[in-house]
Amino acid sequence: MFYNRLTNRREMMKSTMALFAAGLLGKGVPAAEAQSSIQNVNKHSSPSTLKITDLRYTVVKKPGPSPCPIIRIDTNQGVYGLGEVRDVANYQYAMVLKSRIIGENPLNVDYLFEKIAQFGGVARQAGGVAAIEMALWDIAGKVYGAPVYQMLGGKWRDKIRIYADTPEADTPQAFAAKAKGRKEMGLTWIKVDIGTDVLKGRPGTLVEPADQHSNEYDKRLPHMFTGNELTDKGIDVYCEYMSAIREAIGYDMPLSTDHLGHLGVNSIIRLGRAYEKFNLEWMEDVIPWWYTDLLKQITDSTTTPTITGEDIYEIADFEKLCSTHAVDKIHPDLATSGGILRTHKIGDMAYRYGVPMAMHFAGTPISCMANVHCAAATRNFLALENHALDVPWWQDLVNEIDKPIIKNGYIPVPDTPGLGVTLNDDVVKQHLAPGVGYFEPTPMWDEKQSFDDQTFS
Ligand SMILES: [Mg+2]
Repeated sequence: MFYNRLTNRREMMKSTMALFAAGLLGKGVPAAEAQSSIQNVNKHSSPSTLKITDLRYTVVKKPGPSPCPIIRIDTNQGVYGLGEVRDVANYQYAMVLKSRIIGENPLNVDYLFEKIAQFGGVARQAGGVAAIEMALWDIAGKVYGAPVYQMLGGKWRDKIRIYADTPEADTPQAFAAKAKGRKEMGLTWIKVDIGTDVLKGRPGTLVEPADQHSNEYDKRLPHMFTGNELTDKGIDVYCEYMSAIREAIGYDMPLSTDHLGHLGVNSIIRLGRAYEKFNLEWMEDVIPWWYTDLLKQITDSTTTPTITGEDIYEIADFEKLCSTHAVDKIHPDLATSGGILRTHKIGDMAYRYGVPMAMHFAGTPISCMANVHCAAATRNFLALENHALDVPWWQDLVNEIDKPIIKNGYIPVPDTPGLGVTLNDDVVKQHLAPGVGYFEPTPMWDEKQSFDDQTFS
């Protein structure tokens, strides 16, 4: 049996090689062309001896969420990987991990992620871990000549739907005009931020303890501790905005809303019910993500869908929300939720509970492409945020990829190895954060200053 199988395989290989020769030579491919295809063979493929030799950074400053630190992992075979620390976070979140990855084989992505995972945490604390994970995948893709999505199991879709962040406006009409502008840009899904700001200067709309504003923001009080509650008049103002926006973009286009303002749970429920007629895709982060019971109470009290997740790091925390159906949808930010593979696993976990996954994102095209590959490979993906639709040079930060990066509301999934982008040095250098160099040597991060790797005894 074994012998026969071996014989058959030998026969098959012989005929395959004959077919290959016929294809390459028999059809008259010129020798020079055949030679160039041989020269295109990836010379970096000595996977077993590949080692990380360096980690460097630069920092981009852009309108909107910023700064955006970009990292580069170098190796002993010339191949390198790019990653990005989550927007607004410090590059040091990544650099503190340098001494933990130097000398390691970057292709052991999962092993290296678990090695550094304990240095990640909620919100921006995970920025360094996720940036390194992205860069490891970029290297792996280049070494094996495969786009990152392929290494996650292949594509569910060829293009990634983008949802448009839309800046605030002072009047319902001005907001509606901005939303309409997004639709005219070709976007197929719009998100608008309508919160307590729209109630300013309108007496009788918000029940608010005196001087609460500074408590809310300076002392970082979660929503329900502010004492803020909406009046009927206040809810009418929110609806005035939403109504104008729906009039402008129509009712057949997905519309989401974020930054409701810091309100009590009962006010959020009343607002959710008032919003039902606008058929929203979601109300986002209505209260902090860890109040599972209260989120479930809100979710169960209105047919306006709820979503959360951009500040969650641990997959177990996403699972708690999904298994209890405390929210209708989840919304990880890949640069917080542990990078490409972990976010893909979060999507698969959520799928089992019947929960769709949108993706939060506000960085440069480096992190954007990490999201694109993850979204391509994840079955229950809905739409990926973009926060730079009004920044003309955003897409010029990178090369290799077709421009415009966003075509009629989608990003086509690239087939080039790794993340599929390289940096445009000139453009990045034009937008550096003050006082930051461009991938300068970082020997001060070479040595481990502590021995805190063990998370159990
Ligand atoms: Mg948000």
